[in-house]
Formats: sequence, structure tokens, C-alpha cells
Amino acid sequence: MARNTNSAVSSSLGYDVHVVGEYSPQLNCGICTLIINNATHCCKNHAFCKVCIVKYIECGINTNGNVICPGGCAKVIDSTKLETNVFADRMVNTLPTRCSNAECPWRGDLLDLVQVHRMNCDYQTIPCNNEGCNVEYLKGEFIQHDKECLFKLLQCEYCQDEVLRMDKNKHLVGCLNEHVDCVYLDIGCQIKISRSSVIEHEYEHQSEHMRLLYQNFTHCKKELSISNNENATLKKKIEDLEIKSNEEISYLKQEVKSIRTEFEEFKKESVRSIEEIKTTESEKENVALTTKVKTKDNKEEIETSITVAIKDIKTVVILRHHPTITRRKAMTGGQNKVSS
Ligand SMILES: [Zn+2]
Ligand SMILES: [Zn+2]
Ligand SMILES: [Zn+2]
Ligand SMILES: [Zn+2]
Ligand SMILES: [Zn+2]
Ligand SMILES: [Zn+2]
Repeated sequence: MARNTNSAVSSSLGYDVHVVGEYSPQLNCGICTLIINNATHCCKNHAFCKVCIVKYIECGINTNGNVICPGGCAKVIDSTKLETNVFADRMVNTLPTRCSNAECPWRGDLLDLVQVHRMNCDYQTIPCNNEGCNVEYLKGEFIQHDKECLFKLLQCEYCQDEVLRMDKNKHLVGCLNEHVDCVYLDIGCQIKISRSSVIEHEYEHQSEHMRLLYQNFTHCKKELSISNNENATLKKKIEDLEIKSNEEISYLKQEVKSIRTEFEEFKKESVRSIEEIKTTESEKENVALTTKVKTKDNKEEIETSITVAIKDIKTVVILRHHPTITRRKAMTGGQNKVSS
């Protein structure tokens, strides 16, 4: 497959891209004719790729020692006053483009194309990295080529050496002479044989291998019987434990039941005691109330007696000092003033 030369773009000169639709011809560099990369202007009207204009100034000095704008305006360039044309740069970066690799359906801005898509496009052709291989393939076909490339180094599964895919079969012939372990090593055959005579060894040593297998089988059988016995003992122990724990559980259940009954009785008794205490207290209160009433009655009686006694004493005193006042008046007019 031919390498796509359209996608090869110099990072210094203008952009060689496929723009979708029309765009202003002013965005083409007047020096390299590609789309301006890093737009720089030397006069009011003409912008060029930065690299292009710098190189032009280096080589374009005329007989007067001046450099004239290559845009056709005949102005003398002041190389100290080259400026970035931000506006042109922005216009270039947002130009709608398509990928130039055949069959690639990608569409997007110019900046996205040159900075991202070109590096990742599955439709770009790349050369095979394997030394000696001249094949170029689409990036997306890497896996397929990697499976087929005759120049790929593979590891021999027998000796772990690295060999080219194209030499693999030749290598195996030599590699098969290498000595390896018998497949029955684990059960005791310690003979080393060349890889090419493995089958022959297995055929010739059939009876020996059978004997080893039988020995191994007998040993396994013995081991199995021992572990079966151990299992039976364990099973018995588990059963015993089950019986014992069931007994303990039923004993505990009984205990709980009797504790519950005792607690109920205690509760009833407590209620009874509380009621009794309440009754006793109310009786006491009644007695205290009666006593209080009685005490009050007595007090009133005593007070009445004292009042009567005081009246009597007053009457006696009055009669003694004023004998003219009738006894009756004096007795009834305890509050009246006595005339002298
Ligand atoms: Zn240019
Ligand atoms: Zn100009
Ligand atoms: Zn693409
Ligand atoms: Zn290859
Ligand atoms: Zn090998
Ligand atoms: Zn063997």
C-alpha cells in the first residue's frame, strides 16, 4: 500500500490540509502558497507563515540593502517590527477541514486535525517497525499485520529463545534435539530424553510407566482410606456434640420457665403488699382527721368558757364600783359607756 504523502506536513511551513468549502485566499501564505502557519505580518495587508517570512528576510535583500514585502505592495520590511496576526491565526485554526487519508470519514477544525486527529487517524499508513520488514499498513490494521509479519521476533515455547517468524520451523528442528524431562517425572520417571524422541521413550518405557502409575495409585488408595477413617471419627464427634448441646438447650429452657413462674408470683405479692400499705395509710389519715376535729371543738368550748368568765368578772367589777346601776343593765351593756 502506498504511503499517503498528503498527510506529511512540515511543522514550520504552511498547513497542507483539505479545507471543506471556500475560504479567503488571504489565508494562503504568499511565500509557500500553503495555508498560513503562525500568521505574521510585515505590512498592513500581507501575512505569511512566520518561518517563511523570516527565511525570506534572510535571503531577500536587494541591492539597496532593503527587503521588499513579497505580497506585492512594494513596502520595505522592517524586520524588527514583525507582528503576529492574531485575527488570521484564529481564522486559520477554525477552518473546516477533512482528513486527507483515503476513506477516513473524519471532519473538524484545522487545529483539531493537525494537533489531534493526524496522530490518531486509523487510516494513516505506517511502516512496520520490525527490522527488515518494508510493509506499510493502515494504522487500524496493525493487529492483523502483527499476526502475519515474517520479521516479527517470536519466543520458542521449548527453549524460550527469540526467533524470527520466518525461521521458526527451522529453529524447531534443532530445538527438538534438546533434552527434556519425561512427562511422568512427577510419579518417578527421571529419564531425560531429546524432544524429538519423547514419543519413542513413552512407547519403550510403557511397562515402567505403568508400574509407576500403579504404585502411585496404591499410595493414593491408602491415603484415601486413612482420610475416610478420619472423616468417620469426625462425624461421630459431631453427632455426639449435637446430642449434648440439644440436652443442654432443653435444660436451659426448663430453667427459664421456672424463673418466669417465680417472677409472676413475686409480682402478684408485691401488688398485694402495696395495696395493704395504702389501706393502712388511709386509716391513719382518718384517725388524724378525727383527732383534729375533736381538738378544734374543745378549743371552741374553752374559748366560750373564757369569754363567759371574763364577762362575769367585768360585771362583778362594775357592780362593786357603781352600785346604782342595775345589775341587769351592767350585764347587758358590757359595751355601753357607764355614766358617772
Ligand atoms: Zn508559508
Ligand atoms: Zn505587503
Ligand atoms: Zn483520518
Ligand atoms: Zn512487518
Ligand atoms: Zn527452541
Ligand atoms: Zn519416562
